[in-house]
Amino acid sequence: MSTVLVINSGSSSIKYKLLEPESGDALASGIVERIGEDSGRVAHTTGDGTTELTDPVPDHAEGLRRVLELFERAGPSLAEAGVVAVGHRVVQGGQRYDGPVVIDRAVEAEIDRLSPVAPLHNPPNLTGIRVARELLRDVPHVAVFDTAFFHDLPAAAATYALDREVAATYRVRRYGAHGTSHQYVSGRVSDLLGREDLRQVVLHLGNGASASAVVAGRAVETSMGLTPLEGLVMGTRTGDIDPAVTFHLARNAGMSVDEIDELYNKRSGLKGLTGQNDLREVWRLADDGDPQAALALEIYAHRIRKYVGAYAAAMGGIDALTFTAGVGENDARMRALAADGLAFLGIRVDPGRNASRGRGERVISPDGGGVTVLVVPTNEELEIARQTVSLL
Ligand code: AMP
Repeated sequence: MSTVLVINSGSSSIKYKLLEPESGDALASGIVERIGEDSGRVAHTTGDGTTELTDPVPDHAEGLRRVLELFERAGPSLAEAGVVAVGHRVVQGGQRYDGPVVIDRAVEAEIDRLSPVAPLHNPPNLTGIRVARELLRDVPHVAVFDTAFFHDLPAAAATYALDREVAATYRVRRYGAHGTSHQYVSGRVSDLLGREDLRQVVLHLGNGASASAVVAGRAVETSMGLTPLEGLVMGTRTGDIDPAVTFHLARNAGMSVDEIDELYNKRSGLKGLTGQNDLREVWRLADDGDPQAALALEIYAHRIRKYVGAYAAAMGGIDALTFTAGVGENDARMRALAADGLAFLGIRVDPGRNASRGRGERVISPDGGGVTVLVVPTNEELEIARQTVSLL
């Protein structure tokens, strides 16, 4: 057996999964939460159940040390599981990386150099990499970038209409994000429908949300831009907004750049509109008659419809539309609302199929032509594990 340990290191958390890339089987998974806070938590799950530690976790190094202890205590033993590599999720790979890369000092330095264009993500990703390379020295570590799938976007889609020199000096362009998910899901759709030449739209609707347009396996558009702030309405992020709102707030509300950054990224989206970032809570409020929550749902679905229409235009048509991630996989009502009114493009959702409680990959459009609408659970960890071994 050969397995890959996949690590996704955030500012206050480390998520991990031990996978067998060939079969896709997960042997163990877990999370270290609230790193650096007064109360920490490590939860390690295997086929035999979950083991929890609740002592404070001072830093990432200590968090990962506890995870390694749990592997030895609760199993499976990493030595016996045949770990051949560690795969790291890295959000920003810039214009440099169009695929996975074995991490050495130079790669670490490049991930660090790209931090200004992913200030919330690359620094904690790099912390996780450094700690893991220190603690797991005997295997190669591979970085899989969230931007790589969008590395070769057509220039017309990737370039902002900004002064060329400024854009070049400060590396301003559309990099996209969630690429690992869009790549995995669009690949699955191709396999499921047995066609390589599809014009697809993939909607990754989770706490972060993004859309992509994929033609014959190649990404041609994506809604996230320089950073994951652009595009769809998200749990706490604005998505698309007139950049002049920033000037307006700076001049008239006396807000600093950092305050506006925090407002757009952490206090906007569904949370800004309703006080709740979880779409389930927003539905609950709307069902109880809250007009702001009802409006938030409309805004969320309206933004999705605009993107689907725009991407159909960019591709000259659409063959498949796929929902994935927390909302996309679980929220039948939002899927129906988002597809509502798109019948002119051939997009229809069958109410019975959409409402069925299945958890796996499934078609939710009616039989008999038109666009195939699907739900495909994303599996970023498996994609990272597979790309990791494909490199080695
Ligand atoms: P993710 O980022 O992919 O883990 O997705 C997390 C988000 O999915 C949560 O914040 C919820 O808004 C949403 N979600 C998860 N389950 C459901 C559900 N059954 N119905 C509606 N939304 C859901």
